[in-house]
Amino acid sequence: GKAIRLDGVTKRYAGQETPAVDGITLEIPAGQVVMLVGPSGCGKTTTLKMINRLIEPTEGRIILGDEDVTAINGDDLRRRIGYVIQAGGLFPHMTVAQNIALVPKMLGWSKERVDKRIDELLDLVSLDPADYRDRYPRELSGGQQQRVGVARALAADPPVLLMDEPFGAVDPITRQRLQDELLRIQQEVRKTIVIVTHDFDEAVKLGDWIVVFREGAQIVQYDTPERILAE
Ligand code: ADP
Ligand code: ADP
Repeated sequence: GKAIRLDGVTKRYAGQETPAVDGITLEIPAGQVVMLVGPSGCGKTTTLKMINRLIEPTEGRIILGDEDVTAINGDDLRRRIGYVIQAGGLFPHMTVAQNIALVPKMLGWSKERVDKRIDELLDLVSLDPADYRDRYPRELSGGQQQRVGVARALAADPPVLLMDEPFGAVDPITRQRLQDELLRIQQEVRKTIVIVTHDFDEAVKLGDWIVVFREGAQIVQYDTPERILAE
């Protein structure tokens, strides 16, 4: 079935002549990786933020499962959607463990459960918990920060993961490793994943589906990588 549906979604920022997103209708299937690809400024981040209700559409509706996102309360939304912002987006004054614990604590998990989850997640993203739990983000490489960002987003085991240029801030070799790791994690813990990227090769590598955006934020193509490459 479908996990997310955008229904005629438009976003006009105040003072902007053209809409950032212009009447998008899109269905995102459950358990698949969908890549939003296109040049800078074509509305990819705005689309992701609207799905996570960080920005409200000017027109149209966004349906999560079978509920309008505007009808879902904040805690519930955080339980259902994990969000990875550019370059990890970790809070610099918090350790790795504290960053990962944010949403579970908000949801009222016990200390034991949170602690166990932190170790489990660090293992999942190939960072030794004993070594990394108590580090601050500044003591990590860009690639490691990205991994902690992914661990944090997965913390409360949300069925949906939204990632904004998750591998943008790292060198090509690390990027390749992180991409491979994401595919491995996806085999283990099937999620509905929406990833924003400007890198078409990345979209082909990671996507079950690719959505090609064009300037003016309309969708030009929505298809499998194979069929898009064949055109
Ligand atoms: P992308 O993620 O594809 O680079 P964005 O969604 O960030 O695109 O931006 C789409 C358009 O909306 C751009 O023209 C950008 O300048 C504009 N925009 C983004 N955020 C804001 C904002 N907060 N206020 C006004 N305009 C914005
Ligand atoms: P990755 O490819 O996993 O992102 P790097 O190749 O950048 O990691 O870093 C290699 C090793 O150097 C890592 O195991 C990490 O422990 C260490 N390291 C990198 N940057 C820092 C830093 N700023 N402070 C402490 N250790 C670091």
